Amino acid sequence: MPQIAIVGAGPSGCFTAQALAKLLPEARIDILDALPVPYGLIRYGVAPDHQGTKTVIRQFERLFERQGVGFFGDVRLGETVTLDALQGLYDAVVLATGLSADRRLGVKGDDLPGVLGSGAVTRAFNDYPDTAPVSIGEQVVIVGNGNVAVDLVRLLAKGAGEFHGSDLSEAAAGQCGRVRRIDVVGRSPSDQAKFDPVMIRELGRLEQAAIHVHGLSGEGKVVEALEHLQGHAPDGATREIHFHFGWTPEEIEGQAHVTAARFRQGDARLVLPCDTVLTAIGFEGTTPGADAEGNIGPGLYATGWLKRGPRGTIPENRADAQAVAARIAADLATVPAGKPGRDGLLDLVPQAVHYAQWQNIDAAERADCPEGRVRQKIATKARMLAIAQQTGES
Ligand SMILES: Cc1cc2nc3c(=O)[nH]c(=O)nc-3n(C[C@H](O)[C@H](O)[C@H](O)COP(=O)(O)OP(=O)(O)OC[C@H]3O[C@@H](n4cnc5c(N)ncnc54)[C@H](O)[C@@H]3O)c2cc1C
Repeated sequence: MPQIAIVGAGPSGCFTAQALAKLLPEARIDILDALPVPYGLIRYGVAPDHQGTKTVIRQFERLFERQGVGFFGDVRLGETVTLDALQGLYDAVVLATGLSADRRLGVKGDDLPGVLGSGAVTRAFNDYPDTAPVSIGEQVVIVGNGNVAVDLVRLLAKGAGEFHGSDLSEAAAGQCGRVRRIDVVGRSPSDQAKFDPVMIRELGRLEQAAIHVHGLSGEGKVVEALEHLQGHAPDGATREIHFHFGWTPEEIEGQAHVTAARFRQGDARLVLPCDTVLTAIGFEGTTPGADAEGNIGPGLYATGWLKRGPRGTIPENRADAQAVAARIAADLATVPAGKPGRDGLLDLVPQAVHYAQWQNIDAAERADCPEGRVRQKIATKARMLAIAQQTGES
């Protein structure tokens, strides 16, 4: 029986397990994660008010509940367990650990207090375990023209009553409730902005924000969606959103804290007074140099954001997962069986959080949530582990 370990229980790791379970029904597959809980950025990146996007989790639940895939939470590769040890236990090891370090702006002042990366902010809004709260002021500049920028605009511009059905915690709501003005600034012209037009149109439902779009040019679905937003002004709006296109960041100004963000377009300058700058210009990190099928070396593979770089939506990780699974199936056809796999891992990480224990954390989060919310995420690892251990299940 082939033994396969996947490191990372985000969408890429889960899609890979799904594809492997189909191709190698006799294989034993285990997914490890550094956190006590599965699903990676579905839980900690996707916006709390986009619960529909998170429903992909239901298909991953089948892996653990019906297809015999093992979950080993609170096991960090490189700390709790080494790669050598894993390769000693498993015939194939797939790295699916993602890449979520915020890319820096790379201009003077980008390290001033008040400048925050979108990853740090979305983790805080999603109650990533043991994350310090972020402090967002009244005048916010968001740099970036992608969907994470739109998520931030929407979350910051919503009033308290607009989070019905989300899993935004009261603590996170408190962090994003002060904003009065948001300027969204992108380097590219409006017709090249990477926004999803559906997400832009969704801003037209904001109940408390007036929207102004400056410098629209060109045509296409994004431009049409932005035109549709222009002049959105609900009665009694308490917030303003301004979109600007074609401006390159030049400097973040301030002494002890950010006071303004400066942009250029040829000889022209745009100076936006602000107390907070959020950068939503992508993520970074080192990819391990896998080939197109995800192979790094004998018995070692990569998939998802770790393999391709930090770009693309949840469904875009599926094709990668299928390619790497096909390669593993082909490689394992010539590998003699006999590695200990799960039995050896259970000995190596006896404290790991198993799927039944995660289900208890999940149940506690759903049961103990404020009215109007679907979940109250447990925000510390210690508490997650306490709930996992209370149950005594494995
Ligand atoms: C802020 C944000 C919002 C997004 N919103 C959307 C959206 O609305 N819709 C959409 O389709 N896509 C969205 N995406 C993109 C989507 O999240 C990614 O395509 C997807 O999560 C990448 O999957 P992954 O499994 O490669 O990485 P991840 O989801 O990052 O999963 C990696 C997993 O590996 C674990 N891990 C990391 N290091 C270790 C280690 N050393 N040992 C063990 N485990 C480890 C992590 O805990 C994590 O669970 C968003 C991304 C971000 C950053």
